[in-house]
Amino acid sequence: MRTGIATVCLSGTLKEKMQACAIAGFDGIEIFEQDLVTSPLSPEDVRKMAADLGLGLDLYQPFRDFDSVTEDILQENLRRADAKFKLMSRLGMDTILVCTNVGTATIDDDDLRAGQLSRLAELAGNHGVKVAYEALAWGKYVNDYEHAHRLVDTVDHPNLGTCLDSFHILSRDWDTAPIEAIKPEKIFFVQVADAPKLSMDVLSWSRHYRVFPGEGQFELAKFMGHVARAGYSGPVSLEVFNDVFRQSDVERTAVDAMRSLIWLEEQSAKWLDANAASLIPGSADGDSLAHAARRRRYPMELATLPKVAEPAGFNFAEVKTDEPAQLETLLGQLGFEFAGRHRTKDVQLWSMGQARVIINEQAPSHSEPAIAALGFDVDSPVIASARAQQLRAPVVPRKVQADEEVFQGIAAPDSTEIFLCQGSPDGTAAWTHEFGEGLEHPAAAGSAVIDHVNLAQPWQHFDEAVLFYTSALALEPLPFAEVPSPSGLVRSQVMQTSDRAVRLVLNLAPLLQQGGRKSYQEHIAFAVDDLVATARAAQARGLDFLQIPANYYEDLDARFALEPAFLATLKELNLLYDRDANGEFLHFYTATVGSVFFEMVERRGNYDGYGAPNAPVRHAVQYDAAQYDSLHTHHMHR
Ligand code: MG
Ligand code: MG
Repeated sequence: MRTGIATVCLSGTLKEKMQACAIAGFDGIEIFEQDLVTSPLSPEDVRKMAADLGLGLDLYQPFRDFDSVTEDILQENLRRADAKFKLMSRLGMDTILVCTNVGTATIDDDDLRAGQLSRLAELAGNHGVKVAYEALAWGKYVNDYEHAHRLVDTVDHPNLGTCLDSFHILSRDWDTAPIEAIKPEKIFFVQVADAPKLSMDVLSWSRHYRVFPGEGQFELAKFMGHVARAGYSGPVSLEVFNDVFRQSDVERTAVDAMRSLIWLEEQSAKWLDANAASLIPGSADGDSLAHAARRRRYPMELATLPKVAEPAGFNFAEVKTDEPAQLETLLGQLGFEFAGRHRTKDVQLWSMGQARVIINEQAPSHSEPAIAALGFDVDSPVIASARAQQLRAPVVPRKVQADEEVFQGIAAPDSTEIFLCQGSPDGTAAWTHEFGEGLEHPAAAGSAVIDHVNLAQPWQHFDEAVLFYTSALALEPLPFAEVPSPSGLVRSQVMQTSDRAVRLVLNLAPLLQQGGRKSYQEHIAFAVDDLVATARAAQARGLDFLQIPANYYEDLDARFALEPAFLATLKELNLLYDRDANGEFLHFYTATVGSVFFEMVERRGNYDGYGAPNAPVRHAVQYDAAQYDSLHTHHMHR
């Protein structure tokens, strides 16, 4: 698949954008007119630079408001087009995007439109330029790709073809199957963008909320499957207008963009395989048949990636700090056992059942506890690591001694280190033998596991994180939710496996003022069989619970009419409760140390959520606690 990206997706100058695209590995780019107009580079400079960087200049865009106009406006538009065609010849470019009219169109007549497009195609032909006609979702008279293509068909000129843009098609819910009916030589260009499902006007949605494939909710693999089946083999180019991407680091965004296309390519090949049988009457199924059908029929070559299954579970969570005392106390109070120190590194292992927490003391001095790494159980760490690296995930170097387990590590966008570990059917981990020499390792009691981990994401890398966990780790994103907190709305995105063995929650969290500094809060949640017993034991060991206000329990009673004794227990132990059609959820939180706190949960029945109705209570109490800490610290320093 020939990969491309529009310069409008990125921040910086045209030169910086082009360099970043080349570094990220794109085959070509679309020059967004404004990037050229505002650039000190001459068209000839741009042409030379692209050639030096090995970048194709695949599309010049956009040319707006051409058709459906009066004759005098048309004359003006043809003059304008002529100037752009001349410019393109200096750039060495041969394809221009012309979008349907939104501004100056006054005549709704397909015959007139076809006539005007015919004159444009004739002029383009004289300059050796191809016009790719794109239906904008908010075009005044033409806003549907099939309509735009009917016009192209009517004109029937070799210099006029169609541009298919997934945003304009999927935002309007147009059926994508008819793409297959378009002749391949008439598809001049394909642009892809994803987007979250939002209820708003299409123009604002398009201008501000487009995201890279895999970061939104559009069915892009299906769209691409139809494009491939149509016989198209030209550039597949990202055109993503997004307020965040245009402010963030250009090289990093270009890599994120490239990752999205590599992933989309794989997903498209999968869609074609899964839907191949439907094309061949009488063929029921069969992988090899599907592969053969794909290879035989489609000129678009779709590369695949090393295949990984979704992770089987969390292997460990790692908290880094050089001041571990509070953390050790907290884990002990929760019922964790100290399982020893690593034989060569300044690292401790704590465990409860199959839940393992590593305290890594190899931290700069005065580092407050923070979640630094997560280990996931995978079938093959080597294959999973190869896949992640082909998806341009940065590798995390980790020193190991001979005969120690080598961890394959990659860095997530928020710089959490992700380790791909060899899973075992009984949930144990071989590397734990590197800890606690001389200590007895009793069979871990209870069936505690890591239930979920909640990671705070910086705003500029939130979408990138969703794509990272989707593509590299095969987690499935749920639609995001927004949770109110005293310091703002918290955007919350659940990423999970189909069996829920791994649940990761990405939060776009507001910063909390705490102890004179700002921090995010993140947590690790452990599931146990009997939360009330766990809470009582923790209480007896002196655990500092997050204190839940009495109002919460009154509201709980109003909503659920709980047994009075049960309600009293919840209140006494600061437990939170939720219930839905699938089951019940009990949970409690610890106070925060550094930027980390812990949660203990019990899932009853098939309860599948995270106690979302309780999240605002948790945020409010933590906000209060942080205010208090802040005040307290302030007084101490006076
Ligand atoms: Mg477009
Ligand atoms: Mg939670």
